[in-house]
Amino acid sequence: MKYIFVTGGVVSSLGKGLTAAALGTLLENRGLKVALQKFDPYLNVDPGTMSPFQHGEVYVLDDGAETDLDLGHYERFTSVKLTRLNNLTSGQVYQTVLNNEREGFYLGKTVQVIPHVTDEIKRRIHVLAAESKADVIITEIGGTTGDIEGLPFLEAIREFALEAGVGNTCFIHVTYVPFIKAAGELKTKPTQQSVAKLREIGITPHIICCRCEKPLDKELRQKISLFCNVPVEAVIEEKDVDHSIYEVPLMLQRERTDELVCHLLRLDTPLPNMAHWQEIIRKLIAPQHRVRVGVVGKYIGLQDAYKSVYEALIHGGIGNDCGVEIVQVDAEEIEKEGGEKVLTGLGGILVPGGFGERGIDGKIKAAKFARENKIPYLGLCLGMQIATIEFARNVLKLDRAHSTEFDLETPHPVIALLDAQKKVTKKGGTMRLGAQPCQLAVGSQAGKLYGSFVVNERHRHRFEFNNAYREKFEKAGFVFSGTSPDGKLVEVIELPAHPFYLASQFHPEFLSKPHQPHPLFKGFIAAAHQQIHKKPL
Ligand code: GLN
Repeated sequence: MKYIFVTGGVVSSLGKGLTAAALGTLLENRGLKVALQKFDPYLNVDPGTMSPFQHGEVYVLDDGAETDLDLGHYERFTSVKLTRLNNLTSGQVYQTVLNNEREGFYLGKTVQVIPHVTDEIKRRIHVLAAESKADVIITEIGGTTGDIEGLPFLEAIREFALEAGVGNTCFIHVTYVPFIKAAGELKTKPTQQSVAKLREIGITPHIICCRCEKPLDKELRQKISLFCNVPVEAVIEEKDVDHSIYEVPLMLQRERTDELVCHLLRLDTPLPNMAHWQEIIRKLIAPQHRVRVGVVGKYIGLQDAYKSVYEALIHGGIGNDCGVEIVQVDAEEIEKEGGEKVLTGLGGILVPGGFGERGIDGKIKAAKFARENKIPYLGLCLGMQIATIEFARNVLKLDRAHSTEFDLETPHPVIALLDAQKKVTKKGGTMRLGAQPCQLAVGSQAGKLYGSFVVNERHRHRFEFNNAYREKFEKAGFVFSGTSPDGKLVEVIELPAHPFYLASQFHPEFLSKPHQPHPLFKGFIAAAHQQIHKKPL
């Protein structure tokens, strides 16, 4: 078993997760079985209780784990299926250690960061190693070197490397090489200092990945090599990508990163075949078609809040050889300006998941605009609930119909709390979470898109369609095209009288990959293109 540790220096948001994922792509294409793991130094047990402002999207796994969005990159860039073992937070580490202490597990010893906390961290790497049976485990350490809260993780991986022996571990440090405009130069000092910080802890990186906006010339590479104590070929240029994050594996390959890693880890593998990946990039850079779609949300200024949704739309485009321009529409803007002004000209409208009342009216207006003007609509989780509320109010004329999430006094609770949720008071990990089977109706648009009758999709919600209203909706042409296998829970709705009006209670965006676009997103992009160009792709 071989281990790669990815740390970050200088600033956050460098794309360590992408670097780890892209390396995973290359190693997988060399025939290796990889597993990816993220350590997050914060004290929340998982990011499920954090606001998107704090953390960006919460990425949900098949087993219902609510995890860091970097795990989304891991699944999109590789074929790995992740579980809750793949994301470890300080909160989980301390929870386990403290539970152990209460159980008397430490036999009277003083419980300390070293060795008890660090041992627990190392144990989690070993558990993943045993469960995944991978050839290589890539572990990304969240945060930035120098953060106090990250120290136990760095100490743990230092000890881990010692115990694993020479040739079995590789440390990759992702740093920032800023371009200073006034000097007209890239500067290496922050990188030198962050590597010095790592060495203070006892970790000497084998590879330095330099995030930069301009190319690293030979002189700079030599300087980083000398000051950071790595061979010059281990100084990797990771320049800002021109078009898409999916270029990162090819960029790392050009810099021979995978070759170097395999050499360091004494892995004898064939060269990776990246032809399919190159074709993906071709479709992203020079697509045959183009379309603009709107995503109507409330965290629109935040690039990370709808990460998987944006990625899945891009994938839907790849599947149609169609470039997708995503227009981020603030739901509150629709409330002020009206749907017509803000949404006219878009090929399709997507309402993603969400919680809380802000922006709800704008989203309902967006769904109405899409339905009435025959503009393709894709609703995800809250987006399905919104479509339901809109139909209830404007077609069924159910006055003030709403979800009880937003209006407990509504005379028509068309969306209401799931039965299983009624007694739940705790917040963390208590929603209906993870992969659940959904049965699709014969002849439905959803069934045709999937080409299958039973699908497994990931969930994260507390509210559901209220079955007391099912008949009323059906009579008016609202089709329940997907339900739980017992028929009780509505999972997919659609309007056959519309070119593409489809929404799901689950989150299809979590299962889309650039090389396997999700069928619902692929169908949505095809419909959006057709609506603008008036002919099928
Ligand atoms: N707030 C809604 C619910 O809990 C929708 C959740 C979501 O969109 N993820 O059911």
